[in-house]
Amino acid sequence: MRYSQLLLPTLKENPAEAEVVSHRLLLRAGFIRKLTSGVYSYLPLGLAAIRKVEQIVREEMNRAGAQELLLPVVQPADLWKESGRWEKYGPELLRFKDRHNRESCLGPTHEEVITDLVRMNVHSYRSLPLNLYQIQTKFRDEIRPRFGLMRGREFIMKDGYSFDIDEDGANVTYRKMYDAYHRIFSRCGLSFRAVEADTGTIGGSFSHEFMVLAETGEDTLAICKSDDDKCGYAANLEKAAGAAPRPAEPEVEMLPLEKVETPGKRKVVAVTAFLDISPKQLVKTMVYLADGKPVAVLVRGDHEVQEVKLKNMLGAVEVELADDKQIFDATGVPSGYLGPVGIRILVVADREIAVMRNFVVGGGEKNYHLLNANLGRDFEVDRIGDLREVTAGDRCPHCSGELEFTKGIEVGHIFKLGTAYSEALNATCLDGKGREKHFVMGCYGIGVSRTVAAAIEQNHDKDGIIFPLPIAPFKVVVLNLSPDDNEITSAAEQVYHGLREQGIEVLLDDRDERPGIKFKDVDLIGIPYRVTVGKGFAKDGTVEVRERRHGLTETLPLADAAAFLVERIDRAMATPNG
Ligand SMILES: [Zn+2]
Repeated sequence: MRYSQLLLPTLKENPAEAEVVSHRLLLRAGFIRKLTSGVYSYLPLGLAAIRKVEQIVREEMNRAGAQELLLPVVQPADLWKESGRWEKYGPELLRFKDRHNRESCLGPTHEEVITDLVRMNVHSYRSLPLNLYQIQTKFRDEIRPRFGLMRGREFIMKDGYSFDIDEDGANVTYRKMYDAYHRIFSRCGLSFRAVEADTGTIGGSFSHEFMVLAETGEDTLAICKSDDDKCGYAANLEKAAGAAPRPAEPEVEMLPLEKVETPGKRKVVAVTAFLDISPKQLVKTMVYLADGKPVAVLVRGDHEVQEVKLKNMLGAVEVELADDKQIFDATGVPSGYLGPVGIRILVVADREIAVMRNFVVGGGEKNYHLLNANLGRDFEVDRIGDLREVTAGDRCPHCSGELEFTKGIEVGHIFKLGTAYSEALNATCLDGKGREKHFVMGCYGIGVSRTVAAAIEQNHDKDGIIFPLPIAPFKVVVLNLSPDDNEITSAAEQVYHGLREQGIEVLLDDRDERPGIKFKDVDLIGIPYRVTVGKGFAKDGTVEVRERRHGLTETLPLADAAAFLVERIDRAMATPNG
């Protein structure tokens, strides 16, 4: 490809709308352009990078025995009503009516459609296991689309769905997908971790997220620091659980409940300072609205409520912290003084509360707290469980090693769904003994366009993108520094054609631009290898080969350049992230 003919509108300035690195660089490098909120056009180089990821995904899915198909984008509401998700999915599902007034939606995911397809066409265990996938544009009406391809409304996704006759079969399929995902992200040249994850609105029994590690990641991961490689515990903060709290010492006697005046002290910091106690000796009573209904949540003073865990415990679609007025309306107590003793709304508690003795709680009236409160004697709770976020100092639930925290970007998610969808849609087939069984399903997603953005978040410097070789739109760029000089131009053409003949994807920068502009542009677009044909060639017939990531350069005779690069690229592709 010749740069002079390519639609590659690079920008000198950082676009004001871009808040994160990948968004800024994708815009500046001329890879994407915004059409409307959360919706982007992929320009030739952006699409080329996306196609690279797609190809790796396709090869590894096929290798794992999955089959590619393509399902419709427009889906009828009836199927979603059958699964119960028409109501449950919330406003991210873009719903509309067609000219015949039939309710429809734009597919954010395809469990319903694929389950319907399989129930109509697969009737015997002999056709199983069946693993089907597609690579397709999806639409989710995000409330606040941002960060370019990281959180758009329209995006390219690989979604796959598996059907097995029983749990054992489904577990084998899940494991195959887990391994395939490892190969996919390794082959993309990315540094990543597979972590235990929350199963979210899709539901299901267990799941893993594949996270590209990047300081700018939106997700926090808790990872076991334990040296022995046996553990390897890693979990999304939404799901991460510390080791279970130790049971209370039986000899700690329960002291009499005592009411104390705490004038104007509402916050944990103020109350504990005033009473001269540690936040670990206090239990906060937070009020949330779970799908609109108030619920009191008890956690230790130094802990924070993990809202996803709370949502799961309550089976709620949405939880949000109540404001002062909502707290007063629900409990009759001003915010800051609410406690579990005598409270009349639903109360749930973090499991830590069960092992605490003689703690401080809100007094249930303005300017008062209670000392020496104890669960079971002074108040009861409706439910108890793991509700808090793990923090530094928490221990690994598997090996009691120390947990550490790192940031990641979710690029893949695999779920074992079980029979949730096959039961809802009554999708069955006959097993070996002629009995009717619901399919045991799994689903497996990869954000393809998001993977490109995550790769950039992980791989960039002040000058621009540094593409991992396997997903770079071009592997080499040849810079002709003097397009008006015939000898230099013919030398650049020679390298360009030499590489093309060897099957290397190469861009020839033949533009009539100053060298400074060319160097800046090719650094920005992040092509892994650059060959510069300029003054050196005029002097002694050499060209310079420079590697984008580390800036290492080699000066070679023109005739050797193509062979040198082919060898380098072959070697690097064999161990993309080695
Ligand atoms: Zn561990």
